Amino acid sequence: MIVFDKVTKVYPDGTVALEEASLTIEPKEFVSIVGHSGAGKTTLAKMLLAEEKPTSGNIFYESLDINKLRKQDIHYFRRKIGTVFQDFRLLPNKTVYENISFAMEMSGRDDEEISSDVPHVLDLVDLTNKAYNFPHELSGGEKQRVAIARAIVNQPDIIIADEPTGNLDPINTNEIIQILKKINDLGTTIILTTHNKGVIDALGKRVITMENGKIIRDDKNGRYVLYK
Ligand code: ADP
Repeated sequence: MIVFDKVTKVYPDGTVALEEASLTIEPKEFVSIVGHSGAGKTTLAKMLLAEEKPTSGNIFYESLDINKLRKQDIHYFRRKIGTVFQDFRLLPNKTVYENISFAMEMSGRDDEEISSDVPHVLDLVDLTNKAYNFPHELSGGEKQRVAIARAIVNQPDIIIADEPTGNLDPINTNEIIQILKKINDLGTTIILTTHNKGVIDALGKRVITMENGKIIRDDKNGRYVLYK
């Protein structure tokens, strides 16, 4: 379980990015976070990754108080979380296979695990036939599927997908959302930030709406409602 307890974040320049934000995310939930640009969505994600410290309030993952993790433990903690971003962030000089296997190497996995798990995740994102292509040879949707494969290959508990469909057309957007749903069905918690109304309405899952650093709505089977 993830708990944000009255989390406030004031950046050094005085910007209040989060104001007393409280929320609980249960294991295996699929939660979308919506809000205009600047609402605080990325800051929320960064807090969970221990990339930024709260100014006040606490963030817990199960029994861990994330803000109290020692530097050397943050590295291990982050392995529980896979990340996917709008701009894919693939390694341009590595093939699809290598982009995924490299993430496993970095986590200290051995060759045997790598050769058994990479084909499995390639199959899950339907990219077996592109294993030896380079990122520049892929469509945007395919690149994002590689990024998802890389995010899940170390079997994280949680996936944070920050605007993963921001650069994609509707068909590829739908594919990415279907893959995230499949991963969620296999037991991974998904935290998705998006601006895409169609995605939210089609998902029929929990939607948290943020505005000016505050959580202003939390709907169980949410629809996309923004007032401005
Ligand atoms: P969103 O992801 O919803 O667009 P962000 O979390 O990126 O929102 O930003 C929330 C607010 O915090 C915005 O006003 C933004 O300009 C500000 N902000 C984000 N990062 C920083 C930073 N490193 N320093 C100062 N202000 C920041």
